[in-house]
Amino acid sequence: EVKEQGRDGWHFFNAGLEEKVRKKLSISNGLRLAIERRELSVRFQPIVDALGTRIVGAEMLLRWHPAEGPISPAVFIPIAEMTGSIVPIGAWVFAQACQAEAEWRRRWGERAPAYISVNVSARQLNEKNLLDEVKDTIATHASDPARILLEITETALMADIDTNLRMLRGLADLGFRVAIDDFGTGYSSLAQLTKLPVNVLKIDKAFIDGIAHRPESRAVVKAVIGLGRALGLKMIAEGVENPAQLLELRNFGCDFVQGYLFYRPLEKNQFIDAVEQSFETGGQHYEPPLFFL
Ligand code: C2E
Ligand code: MG
Ligand code: MG
Ligand code: MG
Repeated sequence: EVKEQGRDGWHFFNAGLEEKVRKKLSISNGLRLAIERRELSVRFQPIVDALGTRIVGAEMLLRWHPAEGPISPAVFIPIAEMTGSIVPIGAWVFAQACQAEAEWRRRWGERAPAYISVNVSARQLNEKNLLDEVKDTIATHASDPARILLEITETALMADIDTNLRMLRGLADLGFRVAIDDFGTGYSSLAQLTKLPVNVLKIDKAFIDGIAHRPESRAVVKAVIGLGRALGLKMIAEGVENPAQLLELRNFGCDFVQGYLFYRPLEKNQFIDAVEQSFETGGQHYEPPLFFL
């Protein structure tokens, strides 16, 4: 802002900017070493059916704890995407997902949650050898791609729809499921949606926030759920925090929900306990969640 004139004003402005640049630089340098320093970990946020009685899957969420203290993915992911660090980091996360998927089936067999979902950055889809690398990782962990849901944000997807579409088709041919993340914040056209190899739409938290009291949000959520269902897609609402939101989502026919109302992102052991408790609330009639059928 040029309003901040005078020597002190300019000095203040420049100092703030310099500080920001320094911070970004230190984050981008730190990210390059994060894997070998073992500073990355993952959490699992359960996704439940619209009744909230059973865990049908989980989203894997990356955490970074450098020596100076944890940094939010909302801060470091965009920087990792800019510098390209997201490519090795994304591969590391993907391997964790494959490992978890195979482990769930070993641990729970038929009762295992139906899928693990993992965020994929558009930058990863630009890697020429992605399909070969992904095949290798799947083979290493004896993982089932039909139980892995790849989440790509609507904004990233539409920014370079041709390249992304080609890669997503390749991934879908390998058996992976695909979700559009943060749906409603980007600009997909109906025509594009029908051409995409997509199984799931995740409605962005921004719309869920207002569903019970903002008529605009309510209208968007209702329309998106109607659209998704008409196209044969499964719908997940993100960021569900209170029962009023859940009630509206149920009325609109939303299939699945994710949010603090049910679970926060959990450590592995907490996740295992949550799934086993969910078997009990399902009682003797617990059946494997038929998520994609
Ligand atoms: P996302 O993929 O849309 O993930 C959902 C985010 O919403 C997560 O934030 C989750 O903790 C948060 N959330 C879930 N339920 C609630 C709720 O009820 N209330 C509130 N306030 N928040 C809720 P998180 O873990 O901080 O991740 C932020 C974003 O960072 C993710 O948004 C995703 O875009 C990105 N991200 C996280 N892990 C990865 C990763 O492994 N790879 C890539 N490329 N991006 C990642
Ligand atoms: Mg996501
Ligand atoms: Mg999301
Ligand atoms: Mg998001």
